[in-house]
Amino acid sequence: KKNVLIIGAGGVAQVVAHKCAQNNDVLGDIHIASRTKAKCDEIIASVHEKSAMKQDGVIAAHQLDALNLAAVVALIGETGAQIVINVGSPFVNMTVLDACIETGAAYIDTAIHEEPDKICETPPWYGNYEWKKRDLCAEKGVTAILGAGFDPGVVNAFARFAADQMDEVRSIDIVDINAGSHGKYFATNFDPEINFREFTGTVYSWQSGAWQENAMFEVGREWDLPVVGKQMAYMSGHDEVHSLSANYPKADVRFWMGFGEHYINVFTVLKNLGLLSEQPVKTAEGQVVVPLKVVKAVLPDPASLAPNYTGKTCIGDLVKGTKDGQEVELFVYNVADHAEAYKEVGSQGISYTAGVPPVAAAMLIATGEWDAKTMKNVEEMDPKPFFTLLDRIGLPTRVRDKDGDRAWDA
Ligand code: NDP
Repeated sequence: KKNVLIIGAGGVAQVVAHKCAQNNDVLGDIHIASRTKAKCDEIIASVHEKSAMKQDGVIAAHQLDALNLAAVVALIGETGAQIVINVGSPFVNMTVLDACIETGAAYIDTAIHEEPDKICETPPWYGNYEWKKRDLCAEKGVTAILGAGFDPGVVNAFARFAADQMDEVRSIDIVDINAGSHGKYFATNFDPEINFREFTGTVYSWQSGAWQENAMFEVGREWDLPVVGKQMAYMSGHDEVHSLSANYPKADVRFWMGFGEHYINVFTVLKNLGLLSEQPVKTAEGQVVVPLKVVKAVLPDPASLAPNYTGKTCIGDLVKGTKDGQEVELFVYNVADHAEAYKEVGSQGISYTAGVPPVAAAMLIATGEWDAKTMKNVEEMDPKPFFTLLDRIGLPTRVRDKDGDRAWDA
């Protein structure tokens, strides 16, 4: 058993806490630490109400400023955490990773590090921060699994799974469709600040062995996917393009995110007015405000969408390549249901798909299967034990190819 420290108490952390509690026979004591301790307490109350613990055990809340390295180190020591699941804001990644390197605890996150005052990093993003610590992790034998949510995360494992069945990989297209409905005029499914930052900068894709640049909503394509059917998705920048392009440099790697016309219209107005800017502006009264922070403050809290969210998500990888001289293609995917996620853990489907995988990764570290003793992106790990666990704890993997549709291990 390995004790877990969860950093952050947002929508994703809620799912992580429930899943850790449901699997505390493998994971041991559970500690939740965030800037606002009351949010950790609320999560613990919901765990007791909905999931219960698999076994009797500790689940405790802590106040923590995760930007304070000494405080993170102290809390890891105090809680005896051997695995840290970082699902706080991506601004805290580097201090939390440093604390893990200092204490020897394993590190898992679900998003690339970002600096609050930089709108968009240049590729390859992991190279700007995380990968600079890779040698140190290896030297100290510290396990760090980067980007272990759904996308990045499970989609990286989908790519690896498909690539392993090919002699040569030509292209990896990751498609993320949320065909659900939350009933609000406008809302983002996770932190608006992080969500918008994904779409305000240059869209980077890896094609023909080089970084290509496009504008958001410039390149769109209609996809026909299992369960959710025909959906428009637009090429977007995303974390996993950066690690997959390093691991499969000969393949084209693109990320496609589904958007409805209404979202695009509202987003375009906000952006063109300058309301998505992270640069402070001064009002006539002399108040200094960051427009993006104001927009975040007036939009619905993503967690509040959960009770009325209906419909499904389909996220998958279309991987094309060759096998024995023949052209082959595989679509590896998962379908998740918003209402079912709410029933089980009190969260919407986007938080659910993001929160279940890091717990599977933690369980694989605890059992030793993914205890890499160095820094890895998900596609560098064996996907099979990951899929087996995900099948069991709520996110089954399916495969569609010319022979039809089936479970990944059928
Ligand atoms: P939320 O904004 O709901 O939660 C973030 C949490 O981090 C909040 O509880 C916040 O505290 C806390 N936090 C922020 N700064 C600090 C700090 N300095 N010290 C301690 N705690 C802090 O985000 P989500 O739950 O939606 O997302 C969490 C992470 O998951 C993000 O990194 C996001 O990018 C990632 N993600 C990954 C996905 C994937 O599939 N890979 C999909 C969706 C999200 P407070 O409440 O006080 O503000």
